[in-house]
Amino acid sequence: MTQRSISILGATGSIGASTLDLVRRHAADWRVVALTANCQALELARLAREFRAEVAVVADERCLPELREALAGTGIEALAGTEGLVEASSRAADIVIAAIVGCAGLAPTMAAIEQGRVVGLANKEALVSAGEVMTAAVRRCGTVLLPVDSEHNAIFQCLAGNDSADVRSITLTASGGPFRDWSHERLAAATPAEAVKHPNWDMGAKISVDSATMFNKGLELIEAYHLFPVGLDRLRIIVHPQSVVHSMVEYRDGSTLAQLGPSDMRVPIASVLAWPRRMTTPMPPLDLAAIGELTFRSPDEARFPATRLAREAAEAGGAAPAILNAANEVAVAAFLAGQIGFTRIAVEVENVLSSYAAPAPACLSDVFAIDVEARARARELTEALA
Ligand code: NAD
Ligand code: MG
Repeated sequence: MTQRSISILGATGSIGASTLDLVRRHAADWRVVALTANCQALELARLAREFRAEVAVVADERCLPELREALAGTGIEALAGTEGLVEASSRAADIVIAAIVGCAGLAPTMAAIEQGRVVGLANKEALVSAGEVMTAAVRRCGTVLLPVDSEHNAIFQCLAGNDSADVRSITLTASGGPFRDWSHERLAAATPAEAVKHPNWDMGAKISVDSATMFNKGLELIEAYHLFPVGLDRLRIIVHPQSVVHSMVEYRDGSTLAQLGPSDMRVPIASVLAWPRRMTTPMPPLDLAAIGELTFRSPDEARFPATRLAREAAEAGGAAPAILNAANEVAVAAFLAGQIGFTRIAVEVENVLSSYAAPAPACLSDVFAIDVEARARARELTEALA
């Protein structure tokens, strides 16, 4: 393989670490351009030195002096703020991995998309919020948007070489999270520590809580709606506690294709890094006999209303998905900070959705304005509860 260049937005996170693990294992194949973090200056500097990055960026400007000091004498540039993120993500790279958590990743992800290169998208909140603003930019700039999210990566693989007109349905699998068998009463008392302990996947705190509420699947439904334009009525969700089948595509002739693998994000990330080819990963062979059973059941929207709210937001379209995402980000942060209970997250999202409507965003600044307003309303609700 000829050497390729890569930038990783959110390099210090869970997806960032998995991506860098693969880059480290195939070091001769990769040149690292930009690495970014929120404010973990020392960790970022350590990675930038190890991978001889061209530029390192901290989103929080207060962390720039520390980053500069840690990179002194290395020749690695240090930047900060949204401007720094956008500058770094616009630099020439063969692939940009968008792995910042939340709508905070939207501006740099859009900047990478506008370069018309290959973007590996993990940052689902950016696509959910920007929706058609992002997909229109992808088409306009000739960008190749490759899904890193395991379900969407599975669907992308199952769709390869097929015509979407032949698709009868697409089914996203969901582990159901750590609380899938909990009663409503027990859910109401769930703690942040319990919510971030996912049975199958090791992930950042925000997506772990989303997984427990099923908002992760809700966001993924909207993500799938934009990535695979077969229409909402052909998108389904099924709970599959073992997380072995990562998603499926059913065709009109009755054939269903599924992608299987371990619950390790290095698998979908590797498929994105090597696309359209394959690369070696340290995954052990899939041992279905040892796994024994694969089970499936319908989601319970009475205990987990998130997927219903997401479907309604996708149906409403326009600003609704950005409002849903912003309200969820605020509610998850409030839950993690011990300010609201677990089951209040969905209640709060529903309240913000029903109390705030805005015209459909036509450009990125419209998306940001909706995001800011929805956050303000969600914070008001949180404070009223605290
Ligand atoms: P994480 O919390 O582990 O890492 C987030 C990264 O973003 C870190 O590098 C952090 O420094 C950076 N960051 C945080 N806030 C920021 C801000 N305001 N501005 C700029 N940078 C900021 O999260 P993660 O689990 O790696 O998830 C990253 C994204 O990938 C999320 O959108 C998540 O939904 C998606 N994703 C994650 C997984 C997973 O297994 N972890 C799977 C599928 C999709
Ligand atoms: Mg996923």
